[in-house]
Amino acid sequence: MNPLDTPIEFLKGVGPVRGELLNKEIGIFSFADLITYFPFRYVDRSEFHTISQINEEMAFVQLKGKITNLTSHGKHRTTRLSAKFSDGTGIIELVWFQGIKWIKEKLTNPGDFVIFGKPTIFNGKLNIAHPEVESLSKFMNEIPPGLQPVYSSTEKLKSRGLDSKGIAKLTQKILSNPQIFFAENLPLPLLSAYKLPSRDEAIRNIHFPENLAKMQRARARLKFEELFFIQLRLLQTKILVSKKIKGHPFLKVGSVFNQFYAECLPFELTNAQKRVIREIRKDLGSGIQMNRLLQGDVGSGKTLVALMSALIAIDNGYQAALMAPTEILANQHYQTISKFADKLPLNIALLTGSTKKSERKPIHEGLLNNSIHIIVGTHALIEDGVRFNNLGLVIIDEQHRFGVAQRARMWAKNLIPPHILVMTATPIPRTLSMTLYGDLDISKIDELPPGRKPIITRHFFDSGRARVFAFMKEEIHKGRQIYVVYPLIEESQKLDLKDLMDGYNSITRSFPLPEYAVSIVHGRMKAEDKDYEMQRFVKGETQIMVATTVIEVGVDVPNASVMIIENAERFGLSQLHQLRGRVGRGADQSYCILMTGNKLTSDGQTRIRTMVQSNDGFVISEADLKLRGPGDMMGTQQSGLMEMKIADLVYDDVILKSARNAARNILEQDPELNLQENGGIKKHLLKIQQKKGNWGLIS
Ligand code: ADP
Ligand code: MG
Repeated sequence: MNPLDTPIEFLKGVGPVRGELLNKEIGIFSFADLITYFPFRYVDRSEFHTISQINEEMAFVQLKGKITNLTSHGKHRTTRLSAKFSDGTGIIELVWFQGIKWIKEKLTNPGDFVIFGKPTIFNGKLNIAHPEVESLSKFMNEIPPGLQPVYSSTEKLKSRGLDSKGIAKLTQKILSNPQIFFAENLPLPLLSAYKLPSRDEAIRNIHFPENLAKMQRARARLKFEELFFIQLRLLQTKILVSKKIKGHPFLKVGSVFNQFYAECLPFELTNAQKRVIREIRKDLGSGIQMNRLLQGDVGSGKTLVALMSALIAIDNGYQAALMAPTEILANQHYQTISKFADKLPLNIALLTGSTKKSERKPIHEGLLNNSIHIIVGTHALIEDGVRFNNLGLVIIDEQHRFGVAQRARMWAKNLIPPHILVMTATPIPRTLSMTLYGDLDISKIDELPPGRKPIITRHFFDSGRARVFAFMKEEIHKGRQIYVVYPLIEESQKLDLKDLMDGYNSITRSFPLPEYAVSIVHGRMKAEDKDYEMQRFVKGETQIMVATTVIEVGVDVPNASVMIIENAERFGLSQLHQLRGRVGRGADQSYCILMTGNKLTSDGQTRIRTMVQSNDGFVISEADLKLRGPGDMMGTQQSGLMEMKIADLVYDDVILKSARNAARNILEQDPELNLQENGGIKKHLLKIQQKKGNWGLIS
């Protein structure tokens, strides 16, 4: 057995109790797990400050000096210990509330001390609470000079002596075992090309760096390694799919597509739409299953691309399915597509959770006997009862709401899996898409239809509401329509509903019939009532739509030109951008108004500022990634890919690109990894697969 696979409890100084704590608290089971529990920062213990230099803004300081005036406080028992500490440049107070007896003994030794801690201001004076203390002589003998690792720990671990220092000691123990060596898993030519240290050197230096430069090189190497193996696995999956998974060859573009192009298109396609359709056509004709991600900012015209792709499937005798995350959106798609295609000899059906039983039967039959060409729907399409005659293409809109498993079930709807086109609602930063969808081909619509004026975004505090209402009236008198959107968050549904109803009442008072009409849509309403209200707004019978975020995705009413977002501080950036994308679809100047309370957190301020300053979905999503981190971005939770130990998708984009290129080059030259120099890669991959399982063929 590799000594690194030894259970952690067998490490000297751990034992069963601490072993179990390490398992439970921070997921450390083996020596190897502890070794890959990397420090999150370092402190420089070779440098000393003087008291005259320090201030409360500094993170940690190290001082050398004498203890004077050791005082115990508290009546019967000492509850607080304080001391004055001086180094000839000034005096600072130290205090302890815990471990007092032990500290007291330590401090009664004569001689100089080294203290280490965070200076703060208390009662107008500089003070350090709970500093680490060591006698100068012991410090010189025992604490290795230079950078010390800092590990994160938990209260429970700390109570068992496993604070950062305790963890460092254990790590040191493993590293000093002469049997332990970290075998290289990257080819040497790669290391020299990217000037990376060996794996053994990197692991030793990430924990106990010999100097700053070595620490930085170690971190870079380990980030590279982590990203390299993720990319290698994604690219392997992609190659495997393209080799093994046959797709329906859609060889021709036929009469339906051509008729649509000639007679039904109400406008010229944008160049980006044309390019993307070409890319999709090429995939569909290749005989290999398509797995493509279509990215495009809100309003860039993805629906049309979806429809035209479906027409190619139909021209080749296949059926197409378009799956949307909500009923409203499925409805909307169904109507848009039916309208676009009304001159075509096509049968298009809609299937959602609220489709009546009596209507389901003919739909199920139509899908089986191929009389339905396109089916639009929600999750209802995934149900087992839904079977196809010959499903050739599945289009998934607003992808982040569907899980990987649900996509997999659509694969199984045909003997030869259908082609898959995934459409994302929000642009994803490149680093994230390279990782989340690294096994998909990516098409981008990077251009909006012509004639769109950039949406003007403004921020108002609630106190400015009168002005906002006046503006709304002006716009309505110009013939425009307005959305007013309220947040809806699971935990506080009741309160949110009250907010929404209060808002609705105040709007109906200020915008009375018959001059104005107001629609309302929220999650508690029946599907048919929602639909009825939505349709009134779509037809222009009402001027204001008060709604929760149910209208967030996909809804398309070109005459609506004002989006008012209430409690905008409670929305995430990508959600705000999605909502804003509901306007600006016609030729009129459109507006987005963000209403907030007077108190904003600093994150809240950043979100509002970003929205006011930028209309670009990519800028917004980069900012979102920085604020929230990749783990919290929509839809990424479902992906084990995000569990990175050291790499950071926000900051490591340069390393990520190099790692992906390197992985691609290696797989191009040696797809099976049979070359001797790639032996380390192969071995390491095997280990990862044993630990994490195979990703299989599902994107
Ligand atoms: P999204 O990419 O957000 O799904 P949609 O498909 O809903 O965007 O399209 C937004 C609006 O732009 C729709 O009203 C659609 O009819 C219109 N549109 C799409 N393509 C074009 C084009 N090439 N020229 C003009 N308008 C277009
Ligand atoms: Mg859309």
